[in-house]
Amino acid sequence: MELLERALNKIPELSVEKSTFIVPESETFVQGNKTILKNILNLSDKARRKSEDISKYLTKELGVPINNDGQQLIISGKFSNDEINRCIKRYFDVYVICRECHKPDTQTDTEGRGMLYVVCKACGARYGVKS
Ligand SMILES: [Zn+2]
Repeated sequence: MELLERALNKIPELSVEKSTFIVPESETFVQGNKTILKNILNLSDKARRKSEDISKYLTKELGVPINNDGQQLIISGKFSNDEINRCIKRYFDVYVICRECHKPDTQTDTEGRGMLYVVCKACGARYGVKS
């Protein structure tokens, strides 16, 4: 009996598995009157989104043109790393991390009319967000 209990205790509890996902932080620096987001590829990789999607979001949030050269984002204007970071965090909160299970295993799905759907591969949740 004792042995069995010990064996059972060794089984990892899959049902209580918690999300350990940490939103990556942006790495930026100001160059002249532009702000360079260096690690966009890392951010988009973690988000499993295209860097263009994040670039588009930042353009809207910051209200300035952004040039994506495929390696980094060149943001018009001077922004502190904190400001960019806040936007990145919000992007992950809204578009990447599942509202239901808080895992980042999601995809987005467009269904016209400016609506974007977040589809979670971990728990199957599907909900609309503003695109
Ligand atoms: Zn989910």
